[in-house]
This record gives sequence, C-alpha cells and structure tokens, in this order.
Amino acid sequence: MGRIYNFSAGPAVLPEEVLAEAAAEMLDYQGCGMSVMEMSHRSAAFKGIIETAEQDLRDLMGIPDNYRVLFLQGGASTQFAMIPMNLMTKHKAADYIVSGSWSKKAFKEAQLFGDARCVASSEDGNFSYVPDVDAIEFSADADYVYICQNETIYGTLYHKLPETGDVPLVADVSSCFLSAPVNVADYGLIYGGAQKNIGPAGVTIVIVRDDLIGEPLPGTPTMLRYDTHAKNGSLYNTPPAYGIYVCGKVFQWLKANGGLEAQLERNEKKAKLLYDYLDSSKLFKATARKEDRSIMNVPFVTGSDELDAKFVAEAKLVGLESIKGHRSVGGMRASIYNAMPYEGVKKLVEFMEQFEKENA
Ligand SMILES: *Cc1c(COP(=O)(O)O)cnc(C)c1O
Repeated sequence: MGRIYNFSAGPAVLPEEVLAEAAAEMLDYQGCGMSVMEMSHRSAAFKGIIETAEQDLRDLMGIPDNYRVLFLQGGASTQFAMIPMNLMTKHKAADYIVSGSWSKKAFKEAQLFGDARCVASSEDGNFSYVPDVDAIEFSADADYVYICQNETIYGTLYHKLPETGDVPLVADVSSCFLSAPVNVADYGLIYGGAQKNIGPAGVTIVIVRDDLIGEPLPGTPTMLRYDTHAKNGSLYNTPPAYGIYVCGKVFQWLKANGGLEAQLERNEKKAKLLYDYLDSSKLFKATARKEDRSIMNVPFVTGSDELDAKFVAEAKLVGLESIKGHRSVGGMRASIYNAMPYEGVKKLVEFMEQFEKENA
C-alpha cells in the first residue's frame, strides 16, 4: 500500500516533498558524507541548517528583530511551566482563558508558580466555543494573559485576539502554527510543539520578546530559562538537531508555495469543503460553535457511538487514517493541517457522502 491520507492530530502529516528530500539526503547530507542525524551540532553544516531555519521562519512570520526564536525540547507541555517560571515574575500573577484541555492544563501548571487566575472558561459548554474576549475583565497587575489559540481537541480557534493593552499576550499555537499570516507584535510570546503543523515530534518553537526574558523566578533551572537558550542561539546543549532540519525544510516548502497568505487560502478552501458538507449533512454534525471553528482540527459526530465506530473502521479501509476523535469528545476528528492536500479532504467528504447514503 502507498501513502494514505493521515488525519492524525499529531504527530501529523508532513509534505511529501519534504519527506522525499529528507530521504534523499539521509545517507549523505549535501556532500558531508553523513546524515544530519550523525553530525555534530557544532559543525558548520548544522550551523547552516539552524541559522537558515530561523531566518526562513522569521521571513515567513515577519518576526521583528526584538523577538528571539528558540528551538527547544520538552514539548508544548514543558512550556506550561517555563512560561510562568520566566514571565510570572513581577506581580507573580497571570490571567488564563480556559477554552479547552490544553489551556486548562497550562492554567493548572501555572498555579504551581504564582497567582494564576482563570478569567474566562468555556468548560460549561464542553469547550465547544471560545469565550467572548471583549467581555473579559483582565487584571491590571497580570504579568501576562494566556490563551490556547487553537484548541486541537475541540476544534475551536480564536478568530479575534483579546486586547490586553500593555500586558503581554502569550499564545499556545501548537495546532495552528504557520496556518495563517500573523502579526507577531500582537504577542509577547508565541509557542508550539512542532509535531502538529510544522515537523517531527521533539522540537518546540518559542518566539519571545526580548524584554520578557532574563529575570526568571529564583531557582529556575538553567535549562528552563529562556535566556539560556536565547544567549546561545538554541545551542546551549544538544538541540533536537534532526527535527530542526526537517522543520527547516517545511519552512522552505511554505516559502516556495507562496508563504502564509497562500497557505491560509489553501487551508480555508479545505476547511470550507468539509464544513459545507457537515452543515448540509443529515447524519454528521460539527461539534464546535460555527463562529469559533478551527480550520485545522474538525471534530464531528453522528450522534451514535456505534455509527461513529463503524465510520472510523470503514474510513481506515479506504485509506483515511486516524480520524477517531479524542476520547474526551468522542466521534471523529479530521485534522487538516497545512500538509493535508485538498484531494485528501475531497476523498474524505466523498466517503462521508457515501457512508451517509448507506446508513440513512
Ligand atoms: C498537542 C498539544 C499540546 C501538547 O503538546 P506536547 O508537545 O505533546 O507537550 C499542547 N497544546 C496544544 C494546543 C496541543 O495541540
């Protein structure tokens, strides 16, 4: 069997061209006579790889000079602690909007380090919506305001950011990284695990404004200080070198395909195809509130656990993989990240139409 369409929420689909290039360079990276996996992270070849990756990311996102780009390890979950350790330092307080499992976890972790406050939550609606950001009263003394911009499990996206004035906005963008153009200056810190929309598991990217780092809470371990990595160009210790190399290839793939504007257009086209069908279907129903829908993760249900299971099993037989929903929502979830081709979504919708007919 050849390649299937992979709707996994993460680790997730990568561009086929990127995988093919990495495969071609596996035994001999550009005349080095060895794989990127085998080379010193202090070598000239790897220096070229990490510096090019950072520059390409800066170009794609238009990252201002006063922001540092860090390639870290530990997954997005380690940032749940690193953010308060490094940023919750002046007032020892921060405002959290809880719009799903990931922001809830981040909120809980932050309580270990200071006065983390939940200023709005959508848990009452099983996280099917994003709280109204204009109705929130943020604290004047917060060190930052925290959001999870795209809640991977519930399929919701902030279509409007909270206005936090001088208080820096911190956003977990793990599942919407590079899915659309972004104004980095709207944020104090943006971060995400690479394994959703960028590259292999093992790399976490943090983009942080200069003035927010350098004075972490007393006792913060060296490896958990942003300034440690900022001062050393992400080479304080051995970085996730091969993962950074693949991320760099994805950045080049995005640049070669028109950058983030063009990527957003492709993403919207894919999402529209799926949502339009869901809205017209008598069998399937999207679970997230319409105004807050994600263009990356699309959860849906039939209303019957039995039919859901049948759908997932039959979809797999025709090469539509990993479409089972997260255990906390049930049903199905199609993650349609940057690298998911339009044809994959089209095949999914055609299969859903056929399934609906057969199971009416
Ligand atoms: C997957 C995910 C995480 C957790 O990522 P890890 O790298 O596994 O720690 C955090 N936030 C969001 C939004 C995610 O989708």
